[in-house]
Amino acid sequence: MGDANGKAVLVTGAGGFIGGHLVAALVRAGERRVRAVDCKPLERWHQVYDGVDNRVADLSRRESCAEVCDGAQTVYQLAADMGGMGFIETHKAECMLSVLINTHMLLAARDAGVERFFFSSSACVYNAARQSDPDVTALRESDAYPAEPEDGYGWEKLFSERMCRHFREDFGLETQIARYHNVYGPLGTWMGGREKAPAAICRKVIEAKLSGEPWIEIWGTGRQTRSFMYVDDCIEGTLRIAASDAVEPLNLGSSELVSIDGLVSIVEQIAGVELERFYAPDAPAGVAGRNSDNTRLREHFGWEPSVSLREGLEKTYKWIYDEYMKRWGGRVGPRESAPRREP
Ligand code: NAD
Repeated sequence: MGDANGKAVLVTGAGGFIGGHLVAALVRAGERRVRAVDCKPLERWHQVYDGVDNRVADLSRRESCAEVCDGAQTVYQLAADMGGMGFIETHKAECMLSVLINTHMLLAARDAGVERFFFSSSACVYNAARQSDPDVTALRESDAYPAEPEDGYGWEKLFSERMCRHFREDFGLETQIARYHNVYGPLGTWMGGREKAPAAICRKVIEAKLSGEPWIEIWGTGRQTRSFMYVDDCIEGTLRIAASDAVEPLNLGSSELVSIDGLVSIVEQIAGVELERFYAPDAPAGVAGRNSDNTRLREHFGWEPSVSLREGLEKTYKWIYDEYMKRWGGRVGPRESAPRREP
């Protein structure tokens, strides 16, 4: 991480969920030259810290990338136009346009003499054919090829992974890549269309509880399986990978597999409710099954994500509940779910 020579540690996408937590961790660790950048106005950032060089800039523009990379030693490239399945399945071109951010950030980092460039890739790079069964074999890093990633978002991530690799090989820019698997936690998006399954389910359970109408709509069949990584584990893994000599992409995810129905059950237990379940099989639901094989992560660090889903969801539910109360003052906001379908 260091800034022995007074150069900046740059976090892009810092107004977002993971970027905000990363800035927080760097500040807590005593890093004094953090530069935080996002295109959103500062009042919409999830976390803002005093003493940090906070900047609003559109990093799809090459000149903005040059400005923010000037004097940076380390770059954490987290900026991307993204969201949960409800967003990425319906905004494929917008997701692919994040290639402008990655291209311009790599060029700017190279030209500014940045020493280390961390790129936040995604489990969406994995070949869809290996994710067609809820009863999964965990994905190893090599399973990204032959390539058949998630349409739009996954293709962009895979392409940008390869750009990182070739910038290292051809230009000597030290690049590290993590493939994040479903990150969740407090201080992230929980409504509005970009939220992901854990936050959406917490919100829907809160809505059901407060409304006294004990039903929930679940996207997909409920049988699709995933692993979900608590954000603290994501930040620890990010810092480890960014400081390492790993040249190939590494999975960064929990290996605790759960079905979406199982995820709903945990949130119901936390909320102290039991809800009637309605399924929306045609709603965006992603692949049938996916888990993270952490063999290589363990080989590198003797470490892997360990916060249990129950523990992480308790913190996340509590935070979303408080946010919900702040926003709706104890009333029930408009239930954003699609119309109910037959059970
Ligand atoms: P997020 O949407 O909360 O944060 C991304 C941030 O990037 C946003 O604040 C957004 O305003 C910013 N951004 C978008 N376009 C920009 C631009 N042109 N210039 C500057 N900033 C711009 O998402 P997140 O969950 O914090 O994800 C961070 C990174 O991790 C992303 O690259 C994402 O693809 C990747 N990732 C996240 C997950 C996950 O489960 N959250 C999983 C896999 C990969």
